[in-house]
Amino acid sequence: MPLTKNDEVIVRIEDLGNEGEGIGKADGFPLFIKDAVPGDLVRAKVMKAKKNYAFAHLEEILEPSKDRATAPCPVFKPCGGCRLQHISYEAQLRYKQNKVRSDLIHIGGFSEEFIDSITEPIIGMENPYRYRNKAQFPIGKDKNGNLIAGFYAGRTHDIIPGRDCMLGVPENQEILDIVLDHMKTCKIEPYDEVTYKGLVRHVLIRKGFATGQLMVCIVINGDKLPKEEQLAERLMGLENMTSVSININKGHDNVILGKEVRLLAGSPTITDKVEDIAFCISPLSFYQVNSVQMEKLYRQALDYADLKGTETVWDLYCGIGTISLFLAQKAKQVYGVEIIPEAIADARKNAEINGITNAEFFVGKAEEVLPQKYEEFEKSHADVIVVDPPRKGCDSKCLETILAMAPEKVVYVSCDPATLARDLRILTEGGYELRHVRAVDQFPQTSHVETIVSLSRV
Ligand code: SAH
Repeated sequence: MPLTKNDEVIVRIEDLGNEGEGIGKADGFPLFIKDAVPGDLVRAKVMKAKKNYAFAHLEEILEPSKDRATAPCPVFKPCGGCRLQHISYEAQLRYKQNKVRSDLIHIGGFSEEFIDSITEPIIGMENPYRYRNKAQFPIGKDKNGNLIAGFYAGRTHDIIPGRDCMLGVPENQEILDIVLDHMKTCKIEPYDEVTYKGLVRHVLIRKGFATGQLMVCIVINGDKLPKEEQLAERLMGLENMTSVSININKGHDNVILGKEVRLLAGSPTITDKVEDIAFCISPLSFYQVNSVQMEKLYRQALDYADLKGTETVWDLYCGIGTISLFLAQKAKQVYGVEIIPEAIADARKNAEINGITNAEFFVGKAEEVLPQKYEEFEKSHADVIVVDPPRKGCDSKCLETILAMAPEKVVYVSCDPATLARDLRILTEGGYELRHVRAVDQFPQTSHVETIVSLSRV
């Protein structure tokens, strides 16, 4: 082991780790240094040395990187939400694009020249703050017993007070003020994760960016909130407030939402729009959190699918059918597959409210439904298959079936470039050619990377 605890080293930061930490090498030995930025020359102290790498503490910045920025959020450091606020947005985009490139080369096995020749520039945001259409604030007490709403400090369940997250909408603060004030007046206790006592756990807020509609759902460890009608009335007094509800969660784990929702006032759902398509969103629905980038991502998916109107399209991992309905406008028939039954119920309802009749949805695992439908439909033809799996990527059975169905095009939307690269290797070895790669920044200030690629059958 070339380095041991308390050793001090001077290193140039060369790269960013998955959690936004800086990575530098001391005589070839990698050091992970929190808060250090690529380009910095730093003095760091080794905290924990492993066989092949070490974690070190940033002691001093000897030469700051030109990519450094001042984090605008006052709780950037303790809060676990954003990891990249101390890096300029332009450098964040460069980092994300590089991460995709590097995974495609090292995990996917593609050559540098090839990847560079088919990569389109990352799609960033004009204003990389205040983009989240959903926020979930835990409610608790500070050391002095005052009620607080905020965020969990990185990797813990300690609440950092903060009602105005810079990634969230400004309306969050006013809504939280009303909820906290009601709790104070009615002497309602927040939930305590250690004793399982207390009532109010979280406040979930959603906003339809295209419509302005607001939703509040208060998650409680019980059935009823004291004087809940009064609270609902106050919240409904806010401009654009459309839905106020209670979610019942008496569970002892740290899952945020329970299964039962009870409407207090307004409508059970809010509506948002992506271009011409309306989506009904309930407190429990999955919906992309960045409405602005979502539209660009779906546009790109449509562009890569290059539909003429005669195609049969499969949308695997379809959620509430957002991509499916977007594609249905330009395709002959779309089939969506999703594991969560409630999401499929939303997808069907969303098709209906938009008068879309050429989209059909199936509940189940993509790796089970796709092979089964392929058999049932007597090995019918698919022209385009779109996949948008969770971080672990596609199941191998799903990829195998895609290869057997041999669509002309495959469009892969991914939230983890490493599993994307792994799956692309399988698809390209199975007879597909990678045609386009493009990252879309869905989560500015965080280290998450979203990518969309297109493949064609050779
Ligand atoms: N395309 C949608 C959702 C993408 S998120 C959108 O853009 O909004 C990934 C989705 O895959 C989630 O809705 C998740 O519930 C679903 N999922 C996870 N594992 C799955 C599997 N094995 N088969 C089908 N769907 C799955």
